[in-house]
Amino acid sequence: MPVSDSVSRPDTDAEGERLPINELFASLQGEGKLAGVPSTFVRTSGCNLRCWFCDSYHTSWDPTHAWMTLDEIVDEVEKLTPSHVVVTGGEPLVHDETATLLSELADDYHLTVETNGTLETEAPIDLASISPKLASSTPTPENAPADTDPGVWTDQHDAARIDLDALSSLVEHADDFQLKFVVTGRDDVPEIESLVEDIRGVTTRPVRDDDVLLMPEGQTRDALAKTRTHVADLAAEFGYRYTPRLHVDLWNDAPET
Ligand code: SF4
Repeated sequence: MPVSDSVSRPDTDAEGERLPINELFASLQGEGKLAGVPSTFVRTSGCNLRCWFCDSYHTSWDPTHAWMTLDEIVDEVEKLTPSHVVVTGGEPLVHDETATLLSELADDYHLTVETNGTLETEAPIDLASISPKLASSTPTPENAPADTDPGVWTDQHDAARIDLDALSSLVEHADDFQLKFVVTGRDDVPEIESLVEDIRGVTTRPVRDDDVLLMPEGQTRDALAKTRTHVADLAAEFGYRYTPRLHVDLWNDAPET
């Protein structure tokens, strides 16, 4: 399968500002400081990176979506009960309209933005869930999703995956933040320690070890079973926080979870 570029925008904006929406649903937050909290998820399509293990393949490698106006999105969010809204992707900050959507929701909802940390924003955010992508995320012909040729993305992903200015801006801007690393094994830890120190060196806000979360790689129960105990042990050994992937434990890889 050829690798898709970023999503193509519709020719007309006659219907007002729109976003490419891959999924919009209510569930439990599965990861991070708010794991277990009922939340509405607004998943935008399109990403500026291509992690080989991407758990939202249809927002990155093969984006699929419906274009919804911001009014339509807010209407759908209001029909659901959670007071927490998670704007996720893909990479939601590749779209300028995401900032407008966040502004429209800010008065009524707790807002988490799940981002890969490569883009800055001035939008209102209660919790910036920042997931910097480690070297082990880089796609190669050997690890890329089935029938996918990473092509230029091996170099493009590796060149774009860390942006210290964007990381420090996100850490300082949001009301709260977490640095959530997808961990494949012990070899990832030196890069995590180095990056956390780099972020501490450029931000005025304290970055506590408690703000650093290690999350096991694994998109299915079987895959997660192979990594989670090891990653939990690493978190305990290095003094960072462990985060489960509750939605995988509970619902495996079912959509809209
Ligand atoms: S940054 Fe996130 S959405 Fe983008 S490819 Fe990586 S895991 Fe997927």
